[in-house]
Amino acid sequence: VQQVLDRLYPEPPMPLNHTDPFTLLCAVLLSAQTTDGKVNEVTTELFARAPTPRALAAMSHSDVLSIIRTVGLAPTKARHLIATAQQLCERFGGAVPRTMEELQTLPGVGRKTASVVMSGAFGVPAFPVDTHIHRLALRWRLSRSETNVERVEHDLRALWPPAAYGRLHLQFIYFGREYCQARNHMPSRCPVCSWADNPLPTSAPIAAARSKAHHAQQQQQRQRPQPASPDDIPQLLLESPRKLSKTSVLYGERVAELARGGAAARLIMSATV
Ligand code: SF4
Repeated sequence: VQQVLDRLYPEPPMPLNHTDPFTLLCAVLLSAQTTDGKVNEVTTELFARAPTPRALAAMSHSDVLSIIRTVGLAPTKARHLIATAQQLCERFGGAVPRTMEELQTLPGVGRKTASVVMSGAFGVPAFPVDTHIHRLALRWRLSRSETNVERVEHDLRALWPPAAYGRLHLQFIYFGREYCQARNHMPSRCPVCSWADNPLPTSAPIAAARSKAHHAQQQQQRQRPQPASPDDIPQLLLESPRKLSKTSVLYGERVAELARGGAAARLIMSATV
């Protein structure tokens, strides 16, 4: 999965426009049940009017609502934006806090929003699970929890090193939107599941190489001198001492007899032991 994602999205960009932790927090708060494109449309004006928590906290609900009215759940989001800005000013000196616990005390900020901010703004490894990531994790059998997103997050984090979380989170989202939508997905044309269903295309070169190696091995085997009878042993051992153990198992008694009775055989034994 990671190989396919790396090939499709080598440098996945953060899809929400922002300039600092505060504007990222606002953009993520606006993003629920709305496309990133819509969020980016409204944040252009919102951030021009309110680039800081203090400026946003001073705006009225109707002013914010008039700017963000095209996004889903606009009235609630306008309320959360203003309340969050006020709390940032009152409790955190106008800065966005840097811990999951503190972030989740802000109005409208849940685990997913806090994780995106921790990862996107502060570079702290986090694997926020949204609806796309949850769907992909279930379809790819990376997790089996259909209802508990924290369990899904735990399962995903166990599969990769922390340094990969931020990038994978974005790659999952891009892949989910482009290929693995909730409906009408096309397994036969999908870069991940078509490979998993039918590994022949990618493993064909490996299979060909294996077959070639096997064939060469058989050839080599055929060319090796095989003892025709116990009497051939001394000569064969001289030519190929490495065969002693195998031959001595086959003709143990004869080798011992030769060792007892002849100088040539003793020479062979000392050369090959
Ligand atoms: S076939 Fe593709 S789109 Fe469908 S579940 Fe598999 S990865 Fe997702």
